[in-house]
Amino acid sequence: MKVAVLHAPLDLRLEEVPTPEMGSNDLLVKVVSAGICGTDLHFRHMGPRFPEKPMALGHEWAGEVIETGSNVTRFRVGDRVAYNSNNSPADMGRGGECGGFSNFVVLRDVDEQTQALCKLPDNVSYDHAALVEPISVGAHAVNRANPQPGESITLFGAGPIGLGIIMTLVGRGFHDIVVFELSPLRREMALNAGARAAFDPRRNPAQEILGELRGHGHIWGVPHPQTDIYFEASGAYGLLPEITRFCNKGSRIITIAIHRKPLELDGTKLMSKEITLIGSQGYPHEFPEVMDKIKRGEIDPEKMISHRFPFDQFLQAFEVADNANDAGKVVLQFH
Ligand SMILES: [Zn+2]
Repeated sequence: MKVAVLHAPLDLRLEEVPTPEMGSNDLLVKVVSAGICGTDLHFRHMGPRFPEKPMALGHEWAGEVIETGSNVTRFRVGDRVAYNSNNSPADMGRGGECGGFSNFVVLRDVDEQTQALCKLPDNVSYDHAALVEPISVGAHAVNRANPQPGESITLFGAGPIGLGIIMTLVGRGFHDIVVFELSPLRREMALNAGARAAFDPRRNPAQEILGELRGHGHIWGVPHPQTDIYFEASGAYGLLPEITRFCNKGSRIITIAIHRKPLELDGTKLMSKEITLIGSQGYPHEFPEVMDKIKRGEIDPEKMISHRFPFDQFLQAFEVADNANDAGKVVLQFH
């Protein structure tokens, strides 16, 4: 079988390896679809997690069970499943034994991993099931924000996580979502996912636009644009301090982006504006709920897919995914 292995920064290879050996408590899955994640791109630039140990990549995947160990009771050959990476000790694609950019993956002691695999409803495709993972990241960010009916929302960054945030919010009945995003394609995808408006912040600074659209509150007589909740999903350096500078009193700011270096924040602004600053990572509980929403048609993962590539062309797929201006979610298909 073939597997994508990262040896060093930018040294990613498609290698031929033997199919993993199965034990009596294990499960073998044929991967059918996989999504390329920002984490995969990050690793590709940084190199393997443990520098001396080549690492198989890929944690967003769905596939079909093709073999079960004799002790396995919870799954059968033919089951369609998606991998819930946040609730599995296998650490697939992040330094564990297997990675999802591979023809086959093995899950060890699968009966004990009660949440590691989620069975697919009949009407959910493999391509869409592979994207439950990034949408769950967005759903968790929304849960952390705990939006209340009627609240206004501003999102910075409409990559796959940002799109997951928009789709989750729209599915819960929120429509006042204003997006700032550099890429024209991603702005288009944000609108298609249900955002009210999407702007290029270089031409339309958030502070101005939000004031025009939503009016201002006043702090000591100084106007501050209205927004109840900000999601920072871009990782743009300096944006968090910028939001805390112009936001209105009582704003909630959810940070869901990787920052490569520390930032300086104005503690007095945090204090005097009673800003709530909230971090969000992963999806401890959201995966099954997102799968269910896709089944019921409340979330459509198709809206975040910009490209599909056959697995053979995964290097090209990575190049496309790495160009944030011209890609949403890139899906690999295995035949
Ligand atoms: Zn991911």
